[in-house]
Amino acid sequence: MSKVIDGKAVSAAVLEECRTEVESLKEQGITPGLAVVLVGEDPASKVYVGSKVRTCGELGIYSQKIELPTDTTQTELLRIVDELNRDPSIHGILVQSPPPPQIDEEAIVRTIDPRKDVDGFHPENVAKLALEDASGFVPCTPAGCMRLLREAGVETQGANAVVIGRSMIVGKPMALLLMAKGVDATVTVAHSRSRDLPAICREADILVAAVGRPEMVRADWVKEGAVVIDVGINRVEDASRKSGYRLTGDVAYEEVAPKCAAITPVPGGVGPMTIAMLMKNTIAAAGREG
Ligand code: NAD
Repeated sequence: MSKVIDGKAVSAAVLEECRTEVESLKEQGITPGLAVVLVGEDPASKVYVGSKVRTCGELGIYSQKIELPTDTTQTELLRIVDELNRDPSIHGILVQSPPPPQIDEEAIVRTIDPRKDVDGFHPENVAKLALEDASGFVPCTPAGCMRLLREAGVETQGANAVVIGRSMIVGKPMALLLMAKGVDATVTVAHSRSRDLPAICREADILVAAVGRPEMVRADWVKEGAVVIDVGINRVEDASRKSGYRLTGDVAYEEVAPKCAAITPVPGGVGPMTIAMLMKNTIAAAGREG
């Protein structure tokens, strides 16, 4: 029997911690502030930005939603980021990904003050993660995965961990977190050029899938008793749904779950953790400034 790791419950607990931390900062005269910049009309991005701003409101975090037209220039966006860098009421800045094609996302990330880079994407924060320097910001999704592993009581020390995906947002930071001192997993990172992915995955005590391919990980890729963290969020057509689609992960949940010691569902697993960890990072940024 497998144990379902309930991301909704864990994220609710993290948000409860956040509420207490916000109250205590406010007692010191500090109101954490997050600026969320959205360029363009991407519907999924609008939903993400909306829930980030709403969660800030629920916790008493000040938020600024800056919506810019699709044809915003790089220069204009850089000017706005620069203003936010200098705004003392703002402790965290994020520019929602993906921006329209005329925007050089990497250049924008490099412009954000690393002390306000609550997404953890600035090179200074990437370096701090590699150096295990806790003064940096850890990207929210892998930080959320680590929290789920901890809450589920998963033994990481000496465990074989396989991360599928090497993106800067999920795969790479996840690998660094799993190999960090105190976590102590033995980490393999697989990607689109890896040979015999099923065989690599079968070695995993902890398997993290961050690919973006619906139900790619099948039951015969997973070792009996493994812990599976499914980061993937994929829309697949489903005529039985009113929306015409359903969300599915990178793992074939129905056939994999019975083999696992623990597994995250999609939705309701890693997804809710990302916003919760963003709130944590914003509060940490405010605390450091104060
Ligand atoms: P990405 O496209 O940047 O990276 C995907 C990675 O998967 C790449 O490193 C690539 O090498 C690897 N890959 C692609 N095809 C592969 C294959 N056939 N075999 C092995 N590896 C392969 O994506 P990302 O931003 O890292 O996101 C990955 C998934 O996680 C997506 O479904 C995304 O929607 C989801 N995601 C979820 C959250 C969340 O909050 N839960 C946050 C970020 C991303």
